Amino acid sequence: MTRPFNFSAGPAALPEEVLQQAAAEMLDWNGSGMSVMEMSHRGKEFIAIHDAAEADFRELMAVPDEFRILFMQGGGLAENAIAPLNLSRGGKVDFVLTGSWSEKSEKEARKYCTTHVAATAADSGFTHAPAPASWRLQRDAAYVHLCSNETIHGVEFHDLPDLKALGSDAPLVIDFSSHVASRSVDWSRVGLAFGGAQKNLGPAGVTMVVVREDLLGHALPICPSAFDYKTVADHGSMFNTPPTYAIYIAGLTFQWLKRQREGQAGTEVSGVAAIERRNMAKAQLLYDAIDSSSLYFNKVDRGCRSRMNVPFYLRDESRNEAFLSGAKARGLLQLKGHKSVGGMRASIYNAMPMAGVEALVAYMREFEQKQA
Ligand code: PMP
Repeated sequence: MTRPFNFSAGPAALPEEVLQQAAAEMLDWNGSGMSVMEMSHRGKEFIAIHDAAEADFRELMAVPDEFRILFMQGGGLAENAIAPLNLSRGGKVDFVLTGSWSEKSEKEARKYCTTHVAATAADSGFTHAPAPASWRLQRDAAYVHLCSNETIHGVEFHDLPDLKALGSDAPLVIDFSSHVASRSVDWSRVGLAFGGAQKNLGPAGVTMVVVREDLLGHALPICPSAFDYKTVADHGSMFNTPPTYAIYIAGLTFQWLKRQREGQAGTEVSGVAAIERRNMAKAQLLYDAIDSSSLYFNKVDRGCRSRMNVPFYLRDESRNEAFLSGAKARGLLQLKGHKSVGGMRASIYNAMPMAGVEALVAYMREFEQKQA
């Protein structure tokens, strides 16, 4: 059976090999006689699954030893509270607003700290990322928050800012929900990274948290114990029952990522380097198709266009419904844009093969020609 290409922004398509392996292991994981869903999180079988997932993520993303990797619950939105509860010490926090998700983060954090907007792209309708040199950072901020990939507006930071070079000693907090593991991360610039798994890693229910060790142990007294990074770290993500099945699927996705290869013999790369190269090629194909057309357009500045979420519009919006129904008929699913911005959005996460983007581009050209 060939499956349709699914462009959902999340929960999103997973690698078919991962789904097949999960199906094969559904009733009996590795001769244990149990489904992963039925195992105690404290038993040796699940501990092995957890430890392998953590080690594989560390290896794939080259996470340095001074960072802890936590599997938590609550998703990106809960992290908007959990991060300030752990890191703000009730003080001041700088926010860089580049779209809906960073806006939401700033609003939620107001409950726990004094927020300050260091930069915002609101006046451009969130179509650019303000240059770090223009940010008005506070000297005594507890941390600086940014969303490194805005899923709705399609704005991505292709380089993380070097806060030290901007005169700030504050740790950088990134919400990498929608591009985690799609590219490498410069951990020397990061204090905390968080992201829900349901776009690039697995099913909804597990949140990846990567936190520098010196940031542990400063939670506000009102922070729930299950959300205190130090408590979670001290218990190896098993303070409460973790989302075991979601961790297992994320672990299978990490193994799939490790198997990925791109390039010719001699210059071949693997893992995240391979998926990053493929993601760049996929995004370029789609943006080139949009830019070279007279029907479609994308509003985001070229230097900060997302490789993962590609919002685009039809110049004649009365053709939106025909576009979507024609796409569906060709097995190109979930292309409707977010309701807050309209238009279309193609999310082309790690699991979207080049063939899916080629099929979308071919359909877009055909639709444009037919209607011309
Ligand atoms: N941050 C970003 C960048 C997101 O894309 C999303 C979900 N689309 C969230 C936060 C919220 O995640 P959740 O629904 O898992 O809380």
